[in-house]
Amino acid sequence: MCSCAAAYDEAMTSQSSASPVGHAAMRSANLSLLLRHLHAHGGRSRATLSQETGLSKAAVTTLVGDLAERGLVQEGEVERRGRVGRPGTEVHLDPRHVAGLGLELNVDYLAVSLRDLGGTVRATTSVPMPGADGDHGRTYPLDPVLDLAAAQVRVMLAEAEAQGLWVAGITVAAPGPVDYEGAAVRFASNLGWEGVPLGEELEARLGPDHPPLALENDAKLSALAEAPRLARRGIHDLVYLTGDLGVGAGIIAGGRLVRGWSGFSGEVGHIGLDPAGVSCRCGRRGCWETLVGFETVLDVLADDDPARSPHLPMQERLRRIRELHEAGEERLAERFAALPEDLVRGAGVLVDVLNPQAIVLGGYFGAFADLLVQPVQEALDARLLDADGRVEVSGSTLGLDAAALGGAAVSLERVLDDPLLAPPLPTRA
Ligand SMILES: [Zn+2]
Repeated sequence: MCSCAAAYDEAMTSQSSASPVGHAAMRSANLSLLLRHLHAHGGRSRATLSQETGLSKAAVTTLVGDLAERGLVQEGEVERRGRVGRPGTEVHLDPRHVAGLGLELNVDYLAVSLRDLGGTVRATTSVPMPGADGDHGRTYPLDPVLDLAAAQVRVMLAEAEAQGLWVAGITVAAPGPVDYEGAAVRFASNLGWEGVPLGEELEARLGPDHPPLALENDAKLSALAEAPRLARRGIHDLVYLTGDLGVGAGIIAGGRLVRGWSGFSGEVGHIGLDPAGVSCRCGRRGCWETLVGFETVLDVLADDDPARSPHLPMQERLRRIRELHEAGEERLAERFAALPEDLVRGAGVLVDVLNPQAIVLGGYFGAFADLLVQPVQEALDARLLDADGRVEVSGSTLGLDAAALGGAAVSLERVLDDPLLAPPLPTRA
């Protein structure tokens, strides 16, 4: 039994001794406990909830009523678990009223995802990044990017309203380390940004009354989006690799996201692997991303190949590269044949340092998982020091939306933490 549940029951039975503030905090904590339990384990009866959380049956009934008033849970089927005694009606998460929103700013595209409390993606959009002109060394002008980002968010907020969804928060996935206190991007070398107060700028454009906005690094959000799939198989230590112009990692260790003390964890694209190598946008030489970044694939295409155009949606660029590869384009075949070895040069370092149980290939690596996963797996297996150090390699199942989906999921955490944030449903006639 958790201590908060015990304290709640105590407060329920001796309310005269509980201060109003303490009682409100306790109520919020126990609503969160129940909602998180249903979120993690699925629908169950009040009696089962009482047994599993340690809350009394009376408290569970009251709390479930409070959650239902806010459209967070609903009554479902009669529980059938082969228990003795009267079966209870199951309580489920209600996916119809509350959602989270994720926005990804990427060097190639700007994506927005709307996801409801049940985990269903209600809407997504993806548009090419404004200001991209194929010269990836340049700085992306801030205003057009932020204007378009705000416009895309507004469209999605209107969509949420049309679907009857209250949006708990907006989480922005940034392609670089984040200053969490200042809601700023510390730097995004592939956009040419440094110290950009993204939170403030977007809030100013969204105007008053928008849902709370937070920032997180794109690879970290992608790792959070992939984590539940692996956690269901008992995997709690993973590294998610984004394959884009740059390469970043989202690290989950022991089930928890690793940010590092100042948010710089996972800047793996700049691990120096070749002191005599080509110079990187970061100013160093021979960084991992100069060996495996998306540009190394684009560079083998003809100068006028449409896949090189950043004005084309990323999905179409990837589709074009796939077609060329399937048509037997020789230089592309050579590139994809060499890529696993270059991937393993960096991934091997990560395996040695972090001892993850899984590596998930995302971004363009994920789009070509059928060509990359097996050779990367074999090469990592071949350098194993001990069988217990084996890491499982897989392609991301979330595609290019991973960071935006992770952002939407993190936005929903606000309401899982404090269910009282969700407004009560209008009373029905
Ligand atoms: Zn670098």
